[in-house]
Amino acid sequence: MSSMFLCPVCGRKSAGRVAVDQYYCWECCVEFTMKEEKVSHVFNVELDGSLSSFEG
Ligand SMILES: [Zn+2]
Repeated sequence: MSSMFLCPVCGRKSAGRVAVDQYYCWECCVEFTMKEEKVSHVFNVELDGSLSSFEG
């Protein structure tokens, strides 16, 4: 069983851990980092795989 995390963008439990303190949401294709169980940064994942700041 993989544990899923709440995505700050879509609000679904669709995010999986991809690195230490780094998570990726499969619903909206964003990455976010968490510190002490709080979301600290959200990034868009561009088509080439690079990250840019998410603008809600
Ligand atoms: Zn999401």
